[in-house]
Amino acid sequence: MSRAAARPDVLTAIGDTPLIRLRRASEETGCTILGKAEFLNPGLSVKDRAALSIVQDAEARGLIRPGGTIVEGTAGNTGIGLALVASVRGYRTVIVIPETQSAEKKQTLRLAGARLVEVPAVPFANPNNYVHVARRLAESLAERDPAGAFFADQFDNVANRRAHVERTGPEIYEGTGGSVDGFVCAAGTGGTLAGVAEALWVAKPGVSIALADPEGSALYAHYTAGTLKAEGSSITEGIGQGRVTGNLAGFTPDHAFRIPDAEALAIVFGLMREEGLSLGGSSGINVAGAIRLAKRLGPGHTIVTILCDGAARYASKLFNPAFLAERGLPVPDWLDAPAEDLP
Ligand code: PMP
Repeated sequence: MSRAAARPDVLTAIGDTPLIRLRRASEETGCTILGKAEFLNPGLSVKDRAALSIVQDAEARGLIRPGGTIVEGTAGNTGIGLALVASVRGYRTVIVIPETQSAEKKQTLRLAGARLVEVPAVPFANPNNYVHVARRLAESLAERDPAGAFFADQFDNVANRRAHVERTGPEIYEGTGGSVDGFVCAAGTGGTLAGVAEALWVAKPGVSIALADPEGSALYAHYTAGTLKAEGSSITEGIGQGRVTGNLAGFTPDHAFRIPDAEALAIVFGLMREEGLSLGGSSGINVAGAIRLAKRLGPGHTIVTILCDGAARYASKLFNPAFLAERGLPVPDWLDAPAEDLP
């Protein structure tokens, strides 16, 4: 369907996002590097796909009833996707979010009608981790509310991964006319990475799949040294993982790269300034990973990555000179350029 075609509802406008050539990354590597513009989804992120798939799967399995409540633990984007799917399908949404996530994402969730429960950011092993709080909340709501409650469980619910096996992966294969040689992205739940990989390995045997891992995530060590070990930290949101989630089960990438924030942010700022792409931090990690994969495969290859969400979701952090300076990260000159020199 063309992007301009009339739709019966907003949910049918999820997916079929364009692939955009990233000029500087392509020129620097002699490859064709393409970003899949997931920030153009109705909820403005890659997670609309997983949200829709999870709700459709729950409906098909009779796990959710009209007027029921969808409960989820999320860094934000999945919650935004779930809130919009819930509005169209007639459910309520309760979102448990670590308080460290951006104010913009929390605000967007509230505007979308979700009820927000903010909790301290603690590791998964702690029973007060947002995922466990969400699961318990869903259980107690299900007991009290006759309309019922459903825990979306994006990390371990493979309806998430299936969205990318059935749609994102085939879209990438078809959108490149079958010429895709490599795919790379970061993992939060791992649904995008493992799902696209599953589709592409079948459509194009020999395609190279790579993980781009931020600092503070244990996956790079897991796939390169066999130990789930995290070092450092990242200001990016929604990516990095300390365990092998249900969506990553059985998956092993062909390559893995560990990307420092400074490398990712320079790319985010460059894409904004020189290519008109307004992106969040995880997109920077992904494009950095695409450049590394391109260099490893050599010139002439076609590499695809994901442009997960937009800059506006992180204005108070990634694009806030004071926030960057406090963390010793480079501040792009135009962000705090005074207007004094204007006539
Ligand atoms: N980027 C952003 C901004 C996200 O919110 C997420 C999801 N948490 C991801 C990337 C990672 O996607 P996935 O959960 O499919 O691994």
